[in-house]
Amino acid sequence: MKAMLLRGPNTPFELVDVPDPVAGPGEAVARVITCGSGLTIQHVKAGRRQIRFPRIIGHEITGEIVAVGAGVSHLAVGDAVTAYFYLNCGHCRWCLANLEPLCTTPGGNVGLECDGGYAEYMKLPAHIFIQLPETLDYKANPAEIGVITDALATPYKVLRRASIAPGETVAVIGAGGGLGIHQVMMAKWANARVIAVDTASDKFGACRKAGADLTIDPRGIDLAAALRDATGGHGVDVVVDYVCTTATLGAGFNSLGRRGRLVILGGAAQPFQAAAREMLQKEIAVLGSRYVTRAEILATFDIVARREVWPLVTEVRPLVEAEALHERVERGAVTGRAALRIA
Ligand SMILES: [Zn+2]
Repeated sequence: MKAMLLRGPNTPFELVDVPDPVAGPGEAVARVITCGSGLTIQHVKAGRRQIRFPRIIGHEITGEIVAVGAGVSHLAVGDAVTAYFYLNCGHCRWCLANLEPLCTTPGGNVGLECDGGYAEYMKLPAHIFIQLPETLDYKANPAEIGVITDALATPYKVLRRASIAPGETVAVIGAGGGLGIHQVMMAKWANARVIAVDTASDKFGACRKAGADLTIDPRGIDLAAALRDATGGHGVDVVVDYVCTTATLGAGFNSLGRRGRLVILGGAAQPFQAAAREMLQKEIAVLGSRYVTRAEILATFDIVARREVWPLVTEVRPLVEAEALHERVERGAVTGRAALRIA
């Protein structure tokens, strides 16, 4: 099969011919139709996240099962599938509690610790594939359907993690990014008032289109003060931080009102200071939110199937243009998500 291979960090993709994967016991192989090209995997390509090379990256796939190994009963040839990003074990107490991102014996991530979707075929443990419901027309919109499992479901999970209620004010830091803009959409879907915060002011038009009521460029201003001003001095109910530098986390925390929640999604994941007295007096909560559970992915499928929210994929390129597409992802030039068309 043809595959886009990375031989090391900071190297260009190499289009190679490699043997087709063969499904062993408990495994399945899918033909990949599209695969999302987000910042998570660009971090690997750029060497900001360490993995073992050579590697075929990519996890936001739409595909069709072409082979199942011995002992696999819940998947059949021809099934339309996407992939769960975490290689969770499926049987620890956290997996059994439907909290798969907290798996205590994880095997890493699809496309990082095993080969992923930048290839004609990909093999995974069968339970990592998620069947697509018939309500999603994956043949008409493979790129959009393929990015649901991360770009849209991760923001959906945040709504639940932070118990976001209608009428609350939600500030999204990093709103112009691939996940951020879908967080704006999801917060609007939850009937919140949404403030988009980003240094990429060229993305503000897209943020407003996605549902932002207000946009703030934090450069050169006191972001916490600006957010408090935007809420009439009451403070923001929920800050969702996709950037997570010491500065953004500090500003996010200091912008919160009573019962405010700060949600930490990763990004730079730098340390920050939070005032215990303020947390106590305002009953503030600081919450980590890690990826998304399968149950939440299924719920997100339903929201998309009803067309209440639609994934924003603005660029779809053939596999051979992976390098050029990733250069645009690296520069922050992509609005929403980009994807590669493989089949
Ligand atoms: Zn587990």
